[in-house]
Amino acid sequence: MTIPTTASGNRGLQLEQNLIFEQDTPGMTAVDLPAAPKVSERLGEMKNSKPIGLPGLSEPEVVRHYTRLSQKNYSIDSGFYPLGSCTMKHNPRLNEKMARLPGFADVHPFQPISTVQGALELIDTCASWLKELTGMAAVAMSPAAGAHGELCGLMCIKSAHEANGQGHRKTILVPESAHGTNPATAALCGYAVESIPANAEGRVDVAALKAHLRPEIAAVMITNPNTCGLFERDCIEIAKVVHDAGAYFYMDGANYNAIVGRLRIADLGVDAMHINLHKTFSTPHGGGGPGAGPTVLSDKLAPFAPVPMVVKVGEKFEAEEHAGHGAAKQSYGRMKGYHGQFGVFVRAVSYMMAMGGDGLKQASGDAVLNANYLLARLSEEMTPAFEGPCMHEAVFDDRFLKGTNITTLDIAKALIDEGVHPPTMYFPLVVHGALLMEPTETESKATLDQFIASMLHLARKAKSGTAEAEFKNAPMLSPRRRLDETKAARKPILRWTPGAGDAAKQAAE
Ligand SMILES: *Cc1c(COP(=O)(O)O)cnc(C)c1O
Repeated sequence: MTIPTTASGNRGLQLEQNLIFEQDTPGMTAVDLPAAPKVSERLGEMKNSKPIGLPGLSEPEVVRHYTRLSQKNYSIDSGFYPLGSCTMKHNPRLNEKMARLPGFADVHPFQPISTVQGALELIDTCASWLKELTGMAAVAMSPAAGAHGELCGLMCIKSAHEANGQGHRKTILVPESAHGTNPATAALCGYAVESIPANAEGRVDVAALKAHLRPEIAAVMITNPNTCGLFERDCIEIAKVVHDAGAYFYMDGANYNAIVGRLRIADLGVDAMHINLHKTFSTPHGGGGPGAGPTVLSDKLAPFAPVPMVVKVGEKFEAEEHAGHGAAKQSYGRMKGYHGQFGVFVRAVSYMMAMGGDGLKQASGDAVLNANYLLARLSEEMTPAFEGPCMHEAVFDDRFLKGTNITTLDIAKALIDEGVHPPTMYFPLVVHGALLMEPTETESKATLDQFIASMLHLARKAKSGTAEAEFKNAPMLSPRRRLDETKAARKPILRWTPGAGDAAKQAAE
């Protein structure tokens, strides 16, 4: 099959779109402004010597430009989005509506406390749910995302060690299968990082962990469920040996959506864990939109939590703004302006209240069921990286492609032609040629079946030995074909310069 080229470069009703600066018709505007009144020159030497370079377009041209761009944006609202490690689930629109209520959307952090009692109560309600669900003593609400929550947890751990005369503990243990933010956070916090290998099952090797424990170890950071989509079964034992060695147990809770309502984190012996509200409790986060990473803390770490803190005094809410006072006597200080991502808290509370405890429990069960359905059905043609059932995400390696010369990347590109956003690929790093899929609880069986049909079709085609050229050329039906991703990452062109587009076109011809 060859794809026809067109005179316009358009593909059917998928239209080519230049940068808005390249559509410039000098002097064109979308509005008629009255002529400026004559005023005497007041800018002196500050006067502009040349035009400022804004493009001239008519209103319909501007509308079409941005509408077309918006149509090029594949999103969770246009189709299945099985990225693993990110939890791209549908977020009920009701929660968006709640976050936009003027009483929530229009409050300002500088308002007098007496006028924002409802907002503080909402933060307190969100905190109560998180403490109830995890069984933990306290929660710091201000961290702005998962990685920021990790930083919060480690700052509490560092403060606790210093307060206990253990400031010499300068190393953090992180398993190989950890999310990249874990070692990055530890390093940012001034710690040395030591890696713990995974066992053949894809879980933390407890014997290796024990062998690394010694008086310099400040904490162990473990993602659970881990990035291989597996539950770390040995957490209770890990917590015990870590505590016996005088260190703290940090759990990365970004994958909390697989266990919420089914397991009290406190019962595992965890000292600190961040929760990605934007992954588990309904906030759209594709494209790097705001998240929130509240960090639950054990009673040992609670005194060191960051300010500001919401505190209830009688019937009123107060905000403890300064470390060294009252409830914040031992606080390590402030890590962010104001109280955190308030709009995300509104969505989370709306979601939690609408779902109820039983609904949250069902959501985590359905997330695990959906992932296991993919794992079981796709195992027909593909090779699961680990034995046994998974949690909320299924991971395959590239053994099923052995001898074909077709790679994980080729499969991902061919999926684009099938109308599916590719799953996470080549992560986790411990799995060769990994494809990591997280269907989430919100996808129907019909959607999953459609994805499975495409995936199985591609796997069979790859193994047939007759379609190598087709795979290497994929995607064939998208507006852009296979891009030089390395060059795009290493030498990104971030600034438009006049004529640059023409030069690139000439070079391509
Ligand atoms: C997403 C994620 C993080 C980081 O969260 P951000 O909100 O993106 O900072 C950390 N750990 C795991 C396992 C994650 O999936």
